[in-house]
Amino acid sequence: MTYNEDSSASGHDEPWIQWFCGLKGHEMFCEVERSYIEDGFNLYGLRACVSNFSDCLDLILDRIGPDDSDDSHLTQSACTLYGLIHARYIITAHGLDAMYNKYAAKEFGTCPLVQCAGQPVLPVGLRDEMGADTVKIFCPKCSCVYHPPPIKSRSSHHGGAGVDGAAFGTTFPHLFLMTFSNLVPDRLPRDTTYVPRVFGFRVHVSARQRTTATSSGLLASSSARSNGSRRQIGIVRKSSASKADATTQVKAEAKVEDGKKSKSVKRRSSDGETGGKKSDGNGDSSTPKRQRTET
Ligand SMILES: [Zn+2]
Repeated sequence: MTYNEDSSASGHDEPWIQWFCGLKGHEMFCEVERSYIEDGFNLYGLRACVSNFSDCLDLILDRIGPDDSDDSHLTQSACTLYGLIHARYIITAHGLDAMYNKYAAKEFGTCPLVQCAGQPVLPVGLRDEMGADTVKIFCPKCSCVYHPPPIKSRSSHHGGAGVDGAAFGTTFPHLFLMTFSNLVPDRLPRDTTYVPRVFGFRVHVSARQRTTATSSGLLASSSARSNGSRRQIGIVRKSSASKADATTQVKAEAKVEDGKKSKSVKRRSSDGETGGKKSDGNGDSSTPKRQRTET
């Protein structure tokens, strides 16, 4: 966390904690109760983490006035200390409650994954040491960790993306979901996984392997498997071609080895899967879908 012209706003009437949490990019922070900070037991071990610990504490608890807090270095240290206290506070009962309200209001943001459909996320640190990494967001639906969206309309470079992950810690989102188990969403169904397609054909995994294996980047078709009833589609594009050329050079070649080479294959109406009628019953999910070729 770095401080710039905004810290001039700490010449304020509002309490320091309120000022800190109100800064742009600090939306994920909750206000730690004064009583929690005033209890020395809760601060055990933090004295060594910041320089001038006592002054920082006085600043956070408004024991010294704004005029005395002009020292930007002191403000910086106080912010670091507040982050460390915050990481401890949000895994207490009161802290979890405070974060619950923010989660319910989607103040931590929503998952950027399309399939998660706006699932609210939780802040998480990947490291518990200050200065190691910035805060990330954890989605309980897809169980993935993402960078938070950048803060808009800022000339300075601090914001959500610059907030230290240690101010939230590695434990918080998981303890939160254990505490409020009713908030755990259903896991993302497997069939919602995004499937890359070219002209409607699912890209076969062998096409990708062949593209990397051949440096020329141009290869016509896939070879049929030893099983004669299998059908395969290989889609290979010339890597160096221009966009228009590439379009024309993409080849989708279906090899039908069961004597029905020229017969077009109709899409199965039930689930969109095609070409399986004459198969040997091997339910290989990697077998590509086929569609009627239309021009
Ligand atoms: Zn998600």
